[in-house]
Amino acid sequence: MPRRHPDSLHFTLNWQQQLSEAFTKIEDLCAYLELAIENLPTSSIAAKQFQMRVPLSFAEAMEKGNPDDPLLRQVLPVNDELVEVSGFIADPVGDLNSVVMPGLLHKYHGRALLINTGACAINCRYCFRRNFPYQDMQLSKQQESQVIEHIQQDSTLSEIILSGGDPLLLNDARLAQLIRHLETINHIKRIRIHTRLPIVLPARITKAFADLLADSKKKIILVVHCNHANELTENVEMAIRRIRHPNITLLNQSVLLKGINDQADVLCTLSEKLFDNGILPYYLHILDKAIGTGHFAVSDNDAKGLIEQVQHRLPGYLVPKLVKEIAGAESKQIVL
Ligand SMILES: *Cc1c(COP(=O)(O)O)cnc(C)c1O
Ligand code: SF4
Repeated sequence: MPRRHPDSLHFTLNWQQQLSEAFTKIEDLCAYLELAIENLPTSSIAAKQFQMRVPLSFAEAMEKGNPDDPLLRQVLPVNDELVEVSGFIADPVGDLNSVVMPGLLHKYHGRALLINTGACAINCRYCFRRNFPYQDMQLSKQQESQVIEHIQQDSTLSEIILSGGDPLLLNDARLAQLIRHLETINHIKRIRIHTRLPIVLPARITKAFADLLADSKKKIILVVHCNHANELTENVEMAIRRIRHPNITLLNQSVLLKGINDQADVLCTLSEKLFDNGILPYYLHILDKAIGTGHFAVSDNDAKGLIEQVQHRLPGYLVPKLVKEIAGAESKQIVL
């Protein structure tokens, strides 16, 4: 097969259309994957608490007929979510205490989170945001202006992190406007974008978006959220190639998930494949203890053992930092 040029990234449906056609019914996803629903521990109650949402582009990377597929397990609503586990609470990371104003979360020195939308293209069952009321909140233009004004006033801030939800659910025009506004603020050196969209909906990486980042006056850091090497499909790789540029640093963060990526082999393969695509592993997060996610938990001790094994097998730059978030702490905590 001839090698495809990066710009052969082409889709029949644009990203908004793909998004609106994402799987939201367990039956539909199971039928697509040729799985008999009656043999699976699916839960409609869990799906009611936190809707299932899976774009076809993500489902395509799953193995048909495999109920234990590591991508499927990230998104399928199951009975285990209804099990109460002590210590698992609604706001495990204490985000609600750090809200400066609607849309701005300032917890750590020098950097603040700008949250423009609470929506995501995919609903990951392990997500701590599953219990938040702001699922589909979108910042109004006026609220956004107030946030920008606040950032302008606070010269201790040198980095703005666009987060969510997923900031890439904003359209290109809206994102361009936001980034242009941030570019007018001198003390802001870097704009960081935390997004899972290049992985779960590669069609989102439009030429206009890639150009916006490449042409920015600020340094751009794009942190993709990829948990398993199988997520790096051919289309995802092409999308990543489209955003590679000297002005843009590409990093990855993963969440350590039981039964999904809690094996040294899986983590090593992920790091290698990320690097093949110009992405460096940044953080491996210990799961935040949100209600409904207990079945994904890996103990700190097991996590340390795993990362040691990875460290014995890979060069240092391919070993993600094992971190956890502690409510009220001044930074993420490195688990050693
Ligand atoms: C994770 C996080 C950051 C970024 O932390 P880094 O260690 O710089 O990656 C900033 N603000 C909040 C609220 C966060 O949760
Ligand atoms: S915020 Fe990230 S982990 Fe949570 S549902 Fe959205 S994409 Fe998934």
